[in-house]
Amino acid sequence: MSNSDCLFCRIVSGEIPSTQVLSTDRVLAFRDIAPQAPVHIVVIPKVHSSDIAQLGAQDPALAGELIAAISTLAAQEGLEQGFRVVFNTGSDGGQTVGHVHAHVLAGRSLTWPPG
Ligand code: 5GP
Ligand code: ZN
Repeated sequence: MSNSDCLFCRIVSGEIPSTQVLSTDRVLAFRDIAPQAPVHIVVIPKVHSSDIAQLGAQDPALAGELIAAISTLAAQEGLEQGFRVVFNTGSDGGQTVGHVHAHVLAGRSLTWPPG
């Protein structure tokens, strides 16, 4: 399913341009437009799903493909010093785009816990 009202579906279709760093049959990764770290990549399934809870329930294999893409990106981007993966989910989780996405953050020391 593609949702013309969904920002990330429009990125998948190419209607909205993005700086792609990885594309597989079912997964797309691109640079975040407002990076929170020197490396800030957004990893999404090409098919629409609202959040990681829905994706994990409906297609756990595709959730696994997101993780596999993150492994590829870690090597491709040279993230040997480490990185952080975040799935903001729902309003309390700070999710602002309703198409499931992993943030991959790297390139500086990341504090924990977040605010
Ligand atoms: P959320 O707040 O939902 O966890 O993350 C959404 C992310 O999408 C934010 O980090 C935001 O900067 C990013 N974003 C929003 N609009 C665009 C866009 O048009 N292009 C790209 N590359 N990233 C976007
Ligand atoms: Zn979507």
